[in-house]
Amino acid sequence: MAGNQRAEEKEPGMTPFADAALSAIEAKLDSGTSLSLEDGLALYRTPDLHGLGRLARKQKERKSGKKVFYVLNRYINSTNVCYAGCKFCSFAVDEFKERERVVRMPADVVFTKTFETGANFNQIHIVGGHDPRQLSLDYWLPLMRRFKEAAPHVQLSLFTAAEIDYMAKRHRLSYPEIVAKLKEAGLDNVNGGGAEIFAEATRAKICPNKVSSDNWLAIHEELHRQGVASNATMLYGQIESLEDRVDHLMRLRASQERSPGYNAFIPLAFHPDGNELNDCGWTSGLDDVRTFAVARLMLDNFDHVKAYWMIQGLKVCQVALQFGADDMDGTHGSTDEEMIYHSAGTRSGQYVDDREFRRLIEDAGYVPVRRNSTYQEFAWDWTPQVLQGTTA
Ligand code: SF4
Repeated sequence: MAGNQRAEEKEPGMTPFADAALSAIEAKLDSGTSLSLEDGLALYRTPDLHGLGRLARKQKERKSGKKVFYVLNRYINSTNVCYAGCKFCSFAVDEFKERERVVRMPADVVFTKTFETGANFNQIHIVGGHDPRQLSLDYWLPLMRRFKEAAPHVQLSLFTAAEIDYMAKRHRLSYPEIVAKLKEAGLDNVNGGGAEIFAEATRAKICPNKVSSDNWLAIHEELHRQGVASNATMLYGQIESLEDRVDHLMRLRASQERSPGYNAFIPLAFHPDGNELNDCGWTSGLDDVRTFAVARLMLDNFDHVKAYWMIQGLKVCQVALQFGADDMDGTHGSTDEEMIYHSAGTRSGQYVDDREFRRLIEDAGYVPVRRNSTYQEFAWDWTPQVLQGTTA
């Protein structure tokens, strides 16, 4: 953006920041300069929380004006069997030791469940564990084609890079090869999970068996090269340092520069119930909103920062709209059952009506906009025309 346009954006009569560091950072942002590691740490440590929010809101409004997005969505965890052993995970089950907790849906069950409350939605979001009996192309490619035939208006937001890495290894395929197969079957978007924290020393302690940081980034960059969109996340509030968090954001920014295609960044607050990092406890509301703001300010080449109600809760997510977030994720089907965060103690429910999203967004002073995975916009009451083989 040209310098004179930026100058015009300065809000007249604004009180100065209580923390001089924020004034210097604002000058950088106004000139279109990306923030440094030191800037990110200064933002995390500033005592001027309101000033931080003001800066993040200004950046958000440069990106998306008064719009705040939500999606009509189906959410399914198709299997919880996993042997990766991540220390922060309460969802994964060892099928031989905890048989009664195993959820492993056959493809027909996933298909039926997806449409059991109709087909008026724009996205199917499915993620699961590293399950040797389900996470394979033999299972997924026919199911993906079936989804596309039944509901061509629905975008497939499937897997994380960790799942794609696992499938690539099991099929002895390179990343370009497996991405080509998934795209050909209809993959529109890959979810942002599995990023956790990129800093290798911390990653080795919390998820030593998961895809490496470099490979997580390499998979997303290959997806983008082949025209598949993706999101990115960061798991915060476990054993990581503030330096780890800012480093994580900077690695994402560099990845977007190398191979653009990330739409949204989603901060994931660690949940402590039932996992080995229980000592870390819960994140605070202040850490949550601070993290939304720092992400908005560091990730100048990401269009969207998402406040996912399932994780930080509807009320914190509504406040996050004043701290740089411009997306609240969206509905789950009324019969959907999210397991990852519910296993770890989230107090969020399973279902929120889209009218509630619109109300919360309007109450926060913004304009609700219905979207799909790739941020095409829809009227709030848009309904698909062609519903073959489904109950509309
Ligand atoms: S976080 Fe994912 S990969 Fe790690 S143990 Fe849990 S389900 Fe498995």
